[in-house]
Formats: sequence, C-alpha cells, structure tokens
Amino acid sequence: MAAFFKIRWERYRRVTFTGSHQPCPLCGGSDSVVIGRFDRWFNPLVNVLCRHCGLIFLDPTPTDEELDRYYKEQFWSRSQGSDQPTAKTIANYRRYSQGRLALLAPFLKPGMHILDIGAGGGEFLLAARRRGYQVEGIEPSAGYARYCRQAYGLDVHAATLADTELGDKRYDLITCNHSLEHMRDPLGALARLHDHLDPDGYLYVSVPDLGDPDTWPCAIFTPATCAASPTRLW
Ligand SMILES: [Zn+2]
Repeated sequence: MAAFFKIRWERYRRVTFTGSHQPCPLCGGSDSVVIGRFDRWFNPLVNVLCRHCGLIFLDPTPTDEELDRYYKEQFWSRSQGSDQPTAKTIANYRRYSQGRLALLAPFLKPGMHILDIGAGGGEFLLAARRRGYQVEGIEPSAGYARYCRQAYGLDVHAATLADTELGDKRYDLITCNHSLEHMRDPLGALARLHDHLDPDGYLYVSVPDLGDPDTWPCAIFTPATCAASPTRLW
C-alpha cells in the first residue's frame, strides 16, 4: 500500500522546466495548434500538433540539459515509483519484450549484434541474448543501467544516446522502443543511428500513434483532438 501511494505521489509531483521554442522537429514547419496543456498526471505540458506533417510535440520543448536531468534522475521513479526495476515492471516488460522479439525474429540470425536505445531494466536485451544474439544497450537512468549490469551482466551504458561513445561499431539491429519520442532532436538521433547501422541492418522504431484508436495514448485524447490531426504518421 505504501508503494502504491509513493508511485501516485511521484507522478503528481510538479516537474518544472524552462524549455525553449523550436519548429516542428520532423518537417521544420512553424504552423501548429495546441491540442493539450497537461500530461496524463495533470502536470503543465503544452502539446502542439504540426499542421503541416501531423507530428505532435512539446512547445516549449525541454532543453537537452533539462531532458538529461529528467531521464537520468526522475523518469523511472515518477512513472514506476522506483529508481530501479520492481518485480511488477520486470514481469510487464518481459512480456512486452517477448512480443517484440517474436515480431523481429524473422529478420534476425543468431550472433547478430543488437543495440537497444532506452534499455530500461534490460528485459528485451536479456531475452535477445537468450536467443543467441549479441546485445548492448543505452539507458540514461543510473539505477536501471546498474540493474542491467548487476542482475544480468548486460553491456548497458548509463548515459543518453548523445553522450554515448559508440566508436566505429555497427549493429545488425537497432531498436528504439518508445524512446525516440523522448528526444528533442529525433531526426538528429536517427541520423546518428544510421551511421552505426550495418548496410544490411534494420532499425526498429515504436512511438505513440494518434492514428491507432486501439492503443495508448489515444484513449486520453478527445474526439476533437483526433479530428484536428491532418494525417496518420505513415
Ligand atoms: Zn511538422
């Protein structure tokens, strides 16, 4: 019961940031409409929808320094109530990871190199290693990255993608499972990942999709919000 209230308290605790304005991070457009002023826990957070390409992003967008601090120190404790994985989160993410691996398996061969951006508690990397792949991850939370290393012996960098030195490494598969949308410059991140992808490699990206009425976060958008969306994102 105490853990229940701790998670709730963390979620509703106000997050402050200054941020700065930026044009649409996808198309560079400057014509947008406000579609939401709060996050799911009622913290002030202005979401805008680009009228040109349909991307939804924050405006103002937290600076890179503010994002670094948030994802290194606050993200997991706010969303899950702990700065390292709990039994519940491990069970949930293991289940999700099995589904993701089943989706990707037809494209993979044993021994392939996989890099996971936003590795969390390492559940996906652990499952991939058990299937014979060579795995590496990047996770900004020191507590979660430490857990990956200590509990499973995984090679996980405790840093953001921007701060991780990858040298001349190339990967057969790079996965961004609900991590790309947390970055201020997603196109810049993709360009960097492209440089570390084998010419025959694969990039897997999963982000929230306003066009899919059956999955989160559509359930928290209003019909008016959905009507304002000019297009699906693919
Ligand atoms: Zn745009």
